[in-house]
Amino acid sequence: MTSVASPAGQPSGAFAPASQAAADGLSIVVPVFNEAAGLPQLHRSLTEVARTLRRRWNLACEIVYVDDGSRDQSLAAANALPADELDVQVVALSRNFGKEAALLAGLDFARRGAVLFMDADGQHPPAMIETLVGHWLDGGCDVVFTAKAHRANESALRRLGVKAFYALINWGARQKIPEDAGDFRLLSPRAAAALRRLPERNRFFKGLASWIGFRQLRVDYEPAARGHGRTTWNAATLIGLSIEGITSFSVAPLRIASLLGLVLAASALFFGAQMVVEAIFYGVSVPGYPSVVVGLMVLGGVQLVMIGVMGEYIAKILSETKGRPVYLVADHSVKQANPAAAAVPKSTPSAAE
Ligand code: UDP
Ligand code: MG
Repeated sequence: MTSVASPAGQPSGAFAPASQAAADGLSIVVPVFNEAAGLPQLHRSLTEVARTLRRRWNLACEIVYVDDGSRDQSLAAANALPADELDVQVVALSRNFGKEAALLAGLDFARRGAVLFMDADGQHPPAMIETLVGHWLDGGCDVVFTAKAHRANESALRRLGVKAFYALINWGARQKIPEDAGDFRLLSPRAAAALRRLPERNRFFKGLASWIGFRQLRVDYEPAARGHGRTTWNAATLIGLSIEGITSFSVAPLRIASLLGLVLAASALFFGAQMVVEAIFYGVSVPGYPSVVVGLMVLGGVQLVMIGVMGEYIAKILSETKGRPVYLVADHSVKQANPAAAAVPKSTPSAAE
C-alpha cells in the first residue's frame, strides 16, 4: 500500500535503494604506466577506502590494475600488492597501448557492478571515492564525473587550446561533453553496461561516458600534484589526443570544411562579378598575375588542409574496419580478498536488510 505513486505504479524519481544497488559491488580500474614508485602507497589508500565503503554501504570492492606495458617495475609491484580488504586483479597488456586502451581493458575485466576509473599517479585523491560512491548510492546518479575546479595554474595558451577543443568537439552535438571533465569517474552498473555496449575501437572515454546519458553529475575537485614520476603528455601528444578525440567523436571539422568551401566559393563569385563589372563599365584591366597567384594559393592551401581532415576520418574508418583488438593481454592474475580481513565488523545491527 504505497501512499503516493505515479501512474506507472513507481514512485516518481525512484532509484534502487542503496543496499540493492550496492549488492554487486564496485570495481576500481587503475591504468598503470611506469608508476612503480607510487603503487604501494596508492594501494594502501585504496584499501583504506574499501574498508570505509564496506562499513558504510556494505559495498564489496575489487581493484583492477591494468599495466599498460610499463618499462619499470610496475607489474612486479602490482603483483606484490596484498588483497587484504578487496580483490586485486592485475592485467598486464602485451605492450604500451595507451591510456584509453588500458581503461577499456579494465572495463572488460571488471567483475563487479559499478566501475570507477582513477589514475595511478596520486592526482586523483582516493579520499574522494567515498563522495562519488555517495552520489551513486544515496543520490541515485549513474555517472559521477570529476572536473577540474579551475585552470588557474595553466598557461593562457593551454587554456585557449582547451576552450577551442571543447568548442569544436561540442559544435552541434546533442550531448555536450562537459568541459574540464577528467577520467576520474564512477559509473553505476547500468551505465557501465551501456559503456560496454559501445563497439568502437577508437575510444575517447570522456566522450563516450557522456554520450551514454543517464543521470550525470559533475563534482569539482582540485587535482593533486603528481605523486612521483612525470606526466606522459606533452604539447605534441596532447594535440594528437585532441585530434583523436575530435575525429572519433565529432564530424565538426567536415562541416567546417563544407562551410569554408561555401564561403570561399561565394567570395570568388563576388570577386569575379566585380571584375566583370569593372572591365565592362569602367575599362579597368585587372592586374592578372598577383590576383591569380593569391587565389591559387588560398584554394590550394584550403584544399590540402581539408584533404588532411578527410584523411583523419578515413584513417578512423580503416582502423575500425580492420577490427583489430584494442589491446592484447599478456598476463592476468586474480587475488581474492582475505576473508578474515574483509569480514564486516558487526558494529551496527543491519536491521534494514
Ligand atoms: N597511463 C597509461 N598508459 C599510457 C600513459 C598513461 O596507462 O600510455 C596511465 C598513467 O599510469 C596514469 C594515467 O594513465 O595512471 C594518467 O597518466 P598521466 O598522469 O601521464 O596523465 P595526466 O594525469 O597528466 O593526464
Ligand atoms: Mg596524471
